[in-house]
Amino acid sequence: MYTIPAFTKLRPISHILWDIDGTITDPDGLPNQGVMAKIINLGMHNIYHSFATGRDADWIIENLINPMQEFHNFSVVRNSLTFFAEVGSIEMSFDPTANILQTINPEIEQHPLYTNENGIRQILRDLTYDPDKLPRLNGRKRLKASEEVIYDANNQGFVIDHIVCDVPCYPYVWSTSKRAFATFEKIRDEKGGITTFNQDPFNEIILRAIKNAGFENDIDTEVISTAINIVPKINGNKLGKSWASGRAIENIYHKVKGHHHYDISAVMDQTIAVGDGKADLDFTRPLFDAKIAKRLTRSDIPIIFVGSEQDLPPKTDPLRANIVIQATGYGRPLLINPSMIELQPTKGACVVSEVLDFLKQWDYFRQF
Ligand SMILES: [Mg+2]
Repeated sequence: MYTIPAFTKLRPISHILWDIDGTITDPDGLPNQGVMAKIINLGMHNIYHSFATGRDADWIIENLINPMQEFHNFSVVRNSLTFFAEVGSIEMSFDPTANILQTINPEIEQHPLYTNENGIRQILRDLTYDPDKLPRLNGRKRLKASEEVIYDANNQGFVIDHIVCDVPCYPYVWSTSKRAFATFEKIRDEKGGITTFNQDPFNEIILRAIKNAGFENDIDTEVISTAINIVPKINGNKLGKSWASGRAIENIYHKVKGHHHYDISAVMDQTIAVGDGKADLDFTRPLFDAKIAKRLTRSDIPIIFVGSEQDLPPKTDPLRANIVIQATGYGRPLLINPSMIELQPTKGACVVSEVLDFLKQWDYFRQF
């Protein structure tokens, strides 16, 4: 189910940095129950958990925090859990009365894409369909010839009229829940399906608008299968999982420094990342500002990789050396009922669940 290619690099673990989608969620998108229970159990033993994703805060609340709250002892461990939306732009934790606190990262708070400097957010928003301005479908059956029904990523239906309102970036729709990033979501069909098409011409339109507004040093884009993401840059770096990793480690450092003589490098020594995609390898090289970076005694953290080989960069990529435990990806037989056996893919949350057992059995977890 998994191999341990770098046994000697396994160190005591006091903090786990988690990817969410595909790592702790099952193929149906829901959090894996066994993994949730084990995460909470580790929290009871004072192990910290950080969860980092490109998804927005609303998505995390609905798809991770709410289901997690159902678990026994969640209230005891919630202070050892931190959630990072939009790859670290928004930090979420709990106040003493269990309300969710959302804190915008101070650097993001001053970023032009967040502050809408010179109206840049609106300029981008005007390039595509804006759900706040479109009429909802609301069960309407009859359409005019120029009208079309589109669905956003939340399965909400809207009616667009190509004569009344045409936009340069069709077929996309603006994501209204992003705050630090911005996203042009591909429009979807009734079942949530998307089509594949060449996104480059639209990416160029967006990049041109960013350049014309004078923000090419502050904002960049990223084309993914479901969307074009508009990404803030800080000190020349596009925000991604490296940046999220740095924010998560700094957060833990601030939590533990009062009780122990830890520095950031010591927190990194006892941190391990877990992920299933190529982007998650960036967790292993956290980004810090220059003042902190020059004092570090190490630059990388290890990762447990639970994706398949196709999800990894080529073997020559140096970040692969940070993989200490890796899913084999082979199928294993799963007994459905006495007359039926199916192959269960050995990646994702089911591997995570077993790796956590292994690490616990061999005493790898130790509180700061
Ligand atoms: Mg993932």
